[in-house]
Amino acid sequence: MIKPASKFLHVSSLLASRARPSYCKTLLVKAFSCFFLFLSFAVAHAQSTKTLNTSPLAQADFRTSHMPYTAFDKLSHTILKIENVTLKVGFAPGKLDLSNQQILNWITNSAEVVSKYYGQFPVNNARVLIVPAQGKGVKTGQAFGYRGAAVRVFVGEKSNLNDLKKDWIAIHEMIHLALPNTHQRHLWLAEGLSVYVESIARVQAGQLSETFIWNGFMKSMPFGLPKSGDKGLDYTHTWGRTYWGGAIFCLLTDIEIRKQTNNKMGLQDALIGLIKKGGNNERIWSISEILEATDYATGKKAVYEQYMKMYNTPIKPDLKKLWKDLGIKKVDGKIVLDNNAPLAKIRQAIIAPRKQS
Ligand SMILES: [Zn+2]
Repeated sequence: MIKPASKFLHVSSLLASRARPSYCKTLLVKAFSCFFLFLSFAVAHAQSTKTLNTSPLAQADFRTSHMPYTAFDKLSHTILKIENVTLKVGFAPGKLDLSNQQILNWITNSAEVVSKYYGQFPVNNARVLIVPAQGKGVKTGQAFGYRGAAVRVFVGEKSNLNDLKKDWIAIHEMIHLALPNTHQRHLWLAEGLSVYVESIARVQAGQLSETFIWNGFMKSMPFGLPKSGDKGLDYTHTWGRTYWGGAIFCLLTDIEIRKQTNNKMGLQDALIGLIKKGGNNERIWSISEILEATDYATGKKAVYEQYMKMYNTPIKPDLKKLWKDLGIKKVDGKIVLDNNAPLAKIRQAIIAPRKQS
């Protein structure tokens, strides 16, 4: 959910009246379920649990609009060491059908998917707050950075292991930790990256099939195209333009980097370069610094150039032609991949697990 203070985007209100095809509910819910706060202030896994003697806390203390850092730090917590990151996981008061260990395993798996994509976890320390909620399934999530990287996820009390297996929210929020805070007008970049990278990372980790994510992109990316009267991505903040317009930017940039580097590098390399330059959500960077750091990694200017094309101008790429060129088509309701299409090798490279350097 997007529940920012008035200075931030309030996408949920923009969406309240939109009619949506039933298929897209899952992907559309993605947008509702995440809130990334920009400029909000100004394999072996070790596990240990620490219990603090504190005064009783109520669940309401953990349902605040911003990350309740102070309340979180009074909770008992479990330390998970995964790759380079130390995750401090705390459970807000409330009951869950799932055991704490099952939740911890899910958080561990999510962090592993993100680490595999970036070659490391985006930050070295992060708080993870689990808040029990009504109902079933992982409900919503948020990412914060202003007092240290933090992720809060609301989990339905009736959730089961299958709900955790299907979940994308924990990974989506962890991906937000990989981008510096910047001006709120670039929120589409943060959400676009989380939507796009989550899909690619889960294919690379073996959680999703290639056809599943291309099917999702084919169905949902049209929501990101500009409508009549829309401006460039920096200036039209509707749900479609923010989430799926941002995802279109990511796909086009990925393809462009691959074209310019003979398919040796892609957006993934650019994003890894950003982290290596110290970019993560505990930092506040200008958009220029973000673009420079991503392009530095590939030695090209593809990210900057794509940004310049889309930030102020409502460009409308021909998605049908793009799918055809990538070799993705739908036959009798099923996705069929054509490996002889002009951009088929690029499509294959996008989802191929990256060799660790
Ligand atoms: Zn998000």
